[in-house]
Amino acid sequence: MTIAERDISSSGFEELALLSLSSGDYSCLPELMVRLMNRFADQYVSVSMPSMRVGTLTPEIMDQIKRVRKTGFTVAPEAGTDRLREVINKGISEADLLDTCRNAFAMGWKLIKLYFMIGLPTETGEDVEAIADLARKARNEAGPLAGRVQINVSVGTFVPKPHTPFQWERQLSLAESRERINRLKSILPRKGFKLKWHDPDQSFLEGVFSRGDRRLSTLIEQAWRSGVRLDGWSEHYRLENWQRAAEACDMDLDMYLQARNPEKPLPWDHLDCGVEKDFLVREYHNGLNRVYTPDCRTQGCQKCGLCDFKTIYPVVHSADRPPAVKAGHPSIEKTRAGNQDRVFSCRVHYTRLGDSRFFGHLEILQLVFRALTRAGVHVLYSQGFNPSPRVSFSPALSVGVESECEYFDLELPRPMTNQAEVAARLNMELPPGMRVTGIGIKPEREPEALLVEYTVTPVNALSDKQRESIARFLAGEHHFVERVRKNRKKQLDIRPLVHSLETEDSALTISLISMQGKAGINPKDILREVVGLSEEEVLLARIKKNRVAIFPANA
Ligand code: SF4
Repeated sequence: MTIAERDISSSGFEELALLSLSSGDYSCLPELMVRLMNRFADQYVSVSMPSMRVGTLTPEIMDQIKRVRKTGFTVAPEAGTDRLREVINKGISEADLLDTCRNAFAMGWKLIKLYFMIGLPTETGEDVEAIADLARKARNEAGPLAGRVQINVSVGTFVPKPHTPFQWERQLSLAESRERINRLKSILPRKGFKLKWHDPDQSFLEGVFSRGDRRLSTLIEQAWRSGVRLDGWSEHYRLENWQRAAEACDMDLDMYLQARNPEKPLPWDHLDCGVEKDFLVREYHNGLNRVYTPDCRTQGCQKCGLCDFKTIYPVVHSADRPPAVKAGHPSIEKTRAGNQDRVFSCRVHYTRLGDSRFFGHLEILQLVFRALTRAGVHVLYSQGFNPSPRVSFSPALSVGVESECEYFDLELPRPMTNQAEVAARLNMELPPGMRVTGIGIKPEREPEALLVEYTVTPVNALSDKQRESIARFLAGEHHFVERVRKNRKKQLDIRPLVHSLETEDSALTISLISMQGKAGINPKDILREVVGLSEEEVLLARIKKNRVAIFPANA
């Protein structure tokens, strides 16, 4: 709770994720969820968890998750059949999974992600096909709403790991992984389902390094020398590069994916993780024979060798009494019910200068939302299952364009009386280049037309030809350019939209008329269509929006 408190107030994030390999195994999870939601629901901070084991997502936990907004819902059946789940000692049945899905749909979730592995020990074609069957059954749990819900099936190739019972098992070859994924692609219906898979090429290399030995250090060096970099990013990852490096080192990578002989030493046998090898052998055979090993936290020690029961022993926490669920903040409940008595609006003017010009519009939204939270500015939230702050922004500015005159409008539960202080607090929280320049009244109606002035500094001085082109444009009454909207070409006369276009030394000052609800132009269009700059010159030109005024001035 202390960490959550500190991190939310210092970051302004609206989502808190409980991350671990298996958050659902934490015995105090229901209590923690209630405490977190009691503390943060008023601030619209939602709580999410990564993939959960089926059975740990109880209706009580789901109830807590949805108190603010329904965050992603991922469960991990891991295998398509009960038989294969018994092999991996999953301890959950198809009925458990379907119960969880039914509860989630009943509570309003529309999307459930199911995570599976292919290539688990003893897997057959039937197990692979059962993944699609299980996804279909899960969707049917939505009952009459089944047509409106979606199941995302996520599949990864099983990579045997050292110090686990399946450390002796083989991993699927590249061809087998691809073939099983293709099989799933062909049998999973398109409507209502989406299949995502982990790239088998990446799983292959993970498998090599997962159970590798010290010879792989030579491979890493060779790959690096041949130019391999940033492989964690899929756009940079090329398995061929590693295969070429392996050839250069005279190594057979496929060998690392093969089954290992339990009688022979393993490359990591000299490393002691506390769990005894005899236990792993026993568990390996138990798995293959589908003998269930219970959870030692609740059903007694299974003798894995980890605990000495003096300094290392299982500690299972449980709260004496779960805390009571606190009702939401009255103002939130009112807003949700659409019953907010009064809404007070204000307009915050800010700059976007320097490096902040490279933020995209969505990033600006997030930066402002978080700055508002950190600065302690309480705004109203939208209604519905996915509440968001009632903040609206001036039209999106192109990435790379600076501005002295952006704004966002806030809807507040009470009037803002300390504008200067709020501006100062926001300026402490906004990144360099973004600076609040004033807070004022939001106009009742937006003007029909605006005059927007930009200055543009191209990288190269304008040539005589470009200056002539500008003069010709200004002397004319029309200048038609082609626009493609929804795959249809249209002619747009841009001349009436340019109020003035002046050149001074190497800079241009452009005033454009922007009319509500009508097609407009931006300074980049002028640079391209009128001045005749190349695409690269357009991208490199420094553009700044200086001021915005109502047009015509006496309107
Ligand atoms: S109680 Fe300790 S030694 Fe026994 S199975 Fe659990 S972790 Fe292993």
